Amino acid sequence: MKDDPLDFIRREVSKCVFCGFCEYDCPTLNIKNDRGYGPRGRVRVAKIFIEKDIFSEKSLEYIYTCVLCSACVLSCPAKVDVPGIVVAMRRFIHKKIID
Ligand code: SF4
Ligand code: SF4
Repeated sequence: MKDDPLDFIRREVSKCVFCGFCEYDCPTLNIKNDRGYGPRGRVRVAKIFIEKDIFSEKSLEYIYTCVLCSACVLSCPAKVDVPGIVVAMRRFIHKKIID
C-alpha cells in the first residue's frame, strides 16, 4: 500500500459496484448466515467507516474473520483489493487501540 491508507480505502471502496460475484469464492462467507462475513459485506463496512465514521463491534468481527486469501480479487470484475482494504482497516483499529 503506497498511498495514504484512508485514500487507499476510499479508492478501493469506490470501485465496488456491490454485484456480489466475489461472494462465490470466499471461504468465510458461510461462517454464519450473514453476508458481513464475505467480501461484499467487508467492503460495505469499510464504506460506512469512510463515509460516516461508524464502526460497530459486529464490523470488527467481519474484518477480523477475513483470512486474506485474495480469492475475491480474482473473481471481482472491478479488481477491488478487498484484502488490502481489510489490512488497512485493521491498521486503523490497532492504531485506535494503541493511541
Ligand atoms: S468487491 Fe468486486 S465482485 Fe465484490 S461486490 Fe464489489 S465489485 Fe462486485
Ligand atoms: S480475502 Fe477475505 S474477503 Fe476475500 S475471499 Fe478471502 S476471506 Fe473472503
